[in-house]
Amino acid sequence: MATFKTQVVSEAEKGAVTAAVSCLSKGQLVAIPTETVYGLAADATEHSAVQQIFEVKGRPSFNPLICHVAGPEMAKKFVEVDPISTSLMEKFWPGPLTLVLPAKKDSRIADPVSAGLNTLAVRCPDKEITRTIIDELGHPIAAPSANPSGKLSPTSADDVLAGLAGKIPLVIDAGPSREGIESTIVGIKDEKLYLLRPGTITAEDISEKTSLPVFDRDDNEITAPGQLLSHYAPNAPVRLNATEKQAGEVLIGFGDIEGDMTLSASGNLSEAAHNLFKTIRFADKSGLTIAVAPIPNTGVGIAINDRLHRAAAPRENP
Ligand code: AMP
Ligand code: MG
Repeated sequence: MATFKTQVVSEAEKGAVTAAVSCLSKGQLVAIPTETVYGLAADATEHSAVQQIFEVKGRPSFNPLICHVAGPEMAKKFVEVDPISTSLMEKFWPGPLTLVLPAKKDSRIADPVSAGLNTLAVRCPDKEITRTIIDELGHPIAAPSANPSGKLSPTSADDVLAGLAGKIPLVIDAGPSREGIESTIVGIKDEKLYLLRPGTITAEDISEKTSLPVFDRDDNEITAPGQLLSHYAPNAPVRLNATEKQAGEVLIGFGDIEGDMTLSASGNLSEAAHNLFKTIRFADKSGLTIAVAPIPNTGVGIAINDRLHRAAAPRENP
């Protein structure tokens, strides 16, 4: 694997977009900010560039990538849309909603992006510099989270460097990620919507804006491969639903449970999502077991609990 002296360029710097586009068009990887978490981007139409994402992250090849587009027009070049997906794009893009749709047959997207499936996951990020980079590159970018596979997702340029320094040429730094957890993923089959991964856009938000029910992914045939049980894993073990600290633990609080640090003292679930990975990373530095206060399993809490359960799951590669 090639080694690099990783450069960090602030999004405010004049040459930031040019630097990113120049790397991407040479087939190199760039860590880019999005409103969810930082992504590890490659030109989605360049097979060898996409292949490098899997190598650099140590990501299993069966785990498909999300294609980030500048807007619905670009998406429609690569996926088949219907009235439901068109309406979701209108209502939620740019924003943290990924749609898994049938891939167009003659699409130029490199095969490893969809890991052999006949569908493609597309999203338009709500981060202006990222859309500008995609626009100027003229192609979608494939971008999973910019961290070694199975580890905590990065919500700052420093988090990216902690996992990938020396392995990529460039990080675009735009400060802390606004949402703090990965996008909501929905699939559409036989005109029905299925939630494949919860995120900060909730099933209720989608139902409210579309007047359609959102079914659980367990109820249907669409799979979201790569959603392994152990994921987002810190180094330390994690204990969930902790109402108090035990010996050898650091406690992450929420609401009334104060803890050594908190996801949200006021019990605000969006704030807790924003703080989630940052707080677990910080707690992990203590070397102690990480205990986490109960998080209500409603609204954005469903996405937070999804990440916490994976963080606490038995590790596949201990
Ligand atoms: P990440 O890039 O780590 O946020 O992960 C992206 C996730 O999107 C994958 O782990 C899959 O679960 C899901 N995904 C991407 N493409 C597809 C697809 N074509 N069909 C179903 N799920 C997908
Ligand atoms: Mg990831």
